[in-house]
Amino acid sequence: MNYKSTRNSNVTVTAAQAIARGISEDGGLFVPAEFPALTAQDIAALADKSYTERAAFILNKYLSDFTAEEVKACVTAAYTTEKFGAHPAPVTTLDNGEHILELWHGPTCAFKDMALQILPHLMRVSVSKTAQGKEIIILVATSGDTGKAALEGFKDAPHTRILVFYPEKGVSPMQKLQMTTQEGNNVAVCAIRGNFDDAQTGVKNIFTDPVVKAKLAEHDMMFSSANSINWGRLVPQIIYYVSAYCDLLKDNKIKMGEPINVVVPTGNFGNILAAYYASKMGLPVKKFICASNANHVLTDFIETGVYDRRRDFYTTTSPSMDILISSNLERLLYDLTDCDDKAVAAMMEGLKADGHYTVPANVLKKLQANFVGGFSDDEAVAATIRDTFEKHGYLLDTHTAVAVRVYEQYREKTGDATPTVIASTANPYKFSASVLEALGKDDAAADEFEKVALLQESTGVAAPASLLSLREKEVRFPHICDREAQQAVVYGMLGIEE
Ligand SMILES: *Cc1c(COP(=O)(O)O)cnc(C)c1O
Repeated sequence: MNYKSTRNSNVTVTAAQAIARGISEDGGLFVPAEFPALTAQDIAALADKSYTERAAFILNKYLSDFTAEEVKACVTAAYTTEKFGAHPAPVTTLDNGEHILELWHGPTCAFKDMALQILPHLMRVSVSKTAQGKEIIILVATSGDTGKAALEGFKDAPHTRILVFYPEKGVSPMQKLQMTTQEGNNVAVCAIRGNFDDAQTGVKNIFTDPVVKAKLAEHDMMFSSANSINWGRLVPQIIYYVSAYCDLLKDNKIKMGEPINVVVPTGNFGNILAAYYASKMGLPVKKFICASNANHVLTDFIETGVYDRRRDFYTTTSPSMDILISSNLERLLYDLTDCDDKAVAAMMEGLKADGHYTVPANVLKKLQANFVGGFSDDEAVAATIRDTFEKHGYLLDTHTAVAVRVYEQYREKTGDATPTVIASTANPYKFSASVLEALGKDDAAADEFEKVALLQESTGVAAPASLLSLREKEVRFPHICDREAQQAVVYGMLGIEE
């Protein structure tokens, strides 16, 4: 199966090429040329299988230039019990029809691990097929969770170096500590003075700059991306929606063929797009509910068809969703315009040049047939964390609370009682201060680890060992740079002269 660029349908690449390159030279994102079918029989068969077997089944359909052995080696190396516990993506039922898909059992306690633990393996196979002998340079812009998950996935991976940029003031203390203490001999981390969009735009510009590319080529190096623009990041995310459906089926919580709703706390639109791709394959999904925080550019887009980033940027208690440019929306637009590459390229150009674009009426209609948008401010998020803990004894992180809140609004408004899967994207201990405050237990004097202890004491929910161990780790990467200096930092890390 082949992949096309969203900005030029004549560009055709294999899965290995798509993963090794990360982004198309025209600036477009790689998308599958068609969607493999997932039948009711397939789903029934997968219901009796383990997560790794489900993963191999889905990946084999998309990575058609990988051998079955290669796919199997990647999934078994990634989703180990040691890294993810007994089930990498278990479903917990809160209430009748309200199911939480826990995606944070990996090493860095956020859902990004689901893709970033396997991406280095997919990358290794892809490079061996398409760019043998090259050293891969992974550049990451992060709003917090991607950076750590990518560092942890790629640390000490052979023939690979990784450099992460994060917004100086845009991540939680725990997220920052996770990154600045990162171990490994091929890693570097740098804060930038700016927000996530600045970091991401900088990385994208370096990435697509032909001069930089030529410089790297001279040194037998090539860029690739671990951001969700990379197909290798997106495809592993399709698996857990299928897996959740299988688990609900197995537990008699739904019947075969019964549609579900999916609610996703959204930033870059990668996670929710993976759910949409699962439904394109045949997974029965009725509505995709896109949950945003105060930066609700997507809610407005789904309501009006106008994407407009010309607005104030808010720093919220759900920092991984503080985004005004949702990169993966481009992939959805390509699908909703029936692969109209020219239209997609024009919209993306409009976004870059003027900060906005509008989709045609027929595209808006298709969008609204599938997607519902909603948002929640920090206050409602805090109330949702408190209420959910009081009612169910279940502790939500701030991002998942955005989703739960938006789901409650949706259900109240529509009365839709369709069984619903809510993607839970982070462990609450990554955001201890906000969660404590939500529970009315904040102690401003306490440092990050005292907050963790206080949260454990007051909820009885155990904090993950990987977060507790950060306390003893040495800070290796205290560096901060201006946005304009990003390229110089990249050259510096690689030992290349400008
Ligand atoms: C990255 C992230 C999100 C947003 O996911 P997208 O795929 O970018 O939409 C939501 N919650 C958490 C905790 C995250 O780390």
